[in-house]
Amino acid sequence: MEIKNFFEFNFKSLKLFLHKDLEVEEKKVSMRSKQIWQSVYKKGSFEISNLTTFPLELRSKLNSFISLKKPKILKTQTSTDGTIKWLIKLFDSNEVECVYIPEKTRATLCISSQVGCTLNCRFCHTGTQRLVKNLSFAEIINQVMIAKEQLNDWNEKKNITNIVLMGMGEPFYNYENVKTAVEILRDKEGLNYGPKKITVSTAGIANRIPDAAKEIGTYLALSLHAPTDEIREMIMPINKKFRIKELIEHCKYYSSVVKEKITLEYVMLRGINDSIECAKQLIKIMAHFPCKVNLIEFNPWPGVQYLPTQREDMEKFAKAIQEAGYVATIRRSRGQDILGACGQLRTESLKIKQ
Ligand code: SAH
Repeated sequence: MEIKNFFEFNFKSLKLFLHKDLEVEEKKVSMRSKQIWQSVYKKGSFEISNLTTFPLELRSKLNSFISLKKPKILKTQTSTDGTIKWLIKLFDSNEVECVYIPEKTRATLCISSQVGCTLNCRFCHTGTQRLVKNLSFAEIINQVMIAKEQLNDWNEKKNITNIVLMGMGEPFYNYENVKTAVEILRDKEGLNYGPKKITVSTAGIANRIPDAAKEIGTYLALSLHAPTDEIREMIMPINKKFRIKELIEHCKYYSSVVKEKITLEYVMLRGINDSIECAKQLIKIMAHFPCKVNLIEFNPWPGVQYLPTQREDMEKFAKAIQEAGYVATIRRSRGQDILGACGQLRTESLKIKQ
């Protein structure tokens, strides 16, 4: 029998493996599976030998057939503002980044769902890296496990309080793996992140939004970035496929199921989408479903053609939205000096031609 990596199991398939392959008797399968699951995901124990509640024979079987190996960190960069970016080497040698962003009362871990991306948003650094592959749910969860291990974050009171799927890639183009990863994140016997502690960010893969409302159920962030199809199409080619009108319809549905405001992300590009006229058009969109807008300072990267909107203009834009009665916040950029901020992630992994 081949050795299985523990992180490739969800709870259901772990139970099946213990029963069918390791011949754990049926009435003990749930208990044993729970014990391993909790020891890894709650306590951060990565050694089978620590499972001292297990009979010796079972422990040695587990040792022979289950590995708890995680991908390795290739590089750690720490920003002057405390943000940490880890470059992780996956078992297949592809590289992926995740970013830890501490704040006063909480800390967010930003994880990736793909190596590279297909969307090619003009302002995004990841968009210059072609899609190499979808991450498996194990590879998504491993980013969390690696960060937690680095920070020794296994106490009841969590250091990493929030998880955002806002790193490299488009989560809804890797829907099944993202769905399973969120299930594992939410599992009360394991990592135990409530649905309101997780945010999935999408560039607007409209036809996945209704499924996600029913099956994922976390906070949703929509990378809108422009109030008209004309502007949006210019900066986000995906808008040719899914128009703003369609996004509005699906967001309406999402917020009616999940009963939370949707966050509209809006990266401010000087002279492109930052006029007061744009703010007025955005307000019209905001009237259709419960939402708030997060104005993002544009983070430049080598070779990009856009400039950030000046602070003063950002504030005017925010004020126009607030005066219409909506929430608009300006997101402070974090980790810029280590290319760890929104839209700056990129690795050297290339797709190997078959
Ligand atoms: N594909 C997903 C998640 C990845 S990016 C999505 O599009 O939502 C996370 C956020 O950073 C998105 O809102 C993205 O549009 C934004 N972003 C991309 N490049 C940026 C840049 N250079 N500066 C600021 N934000 C950027």
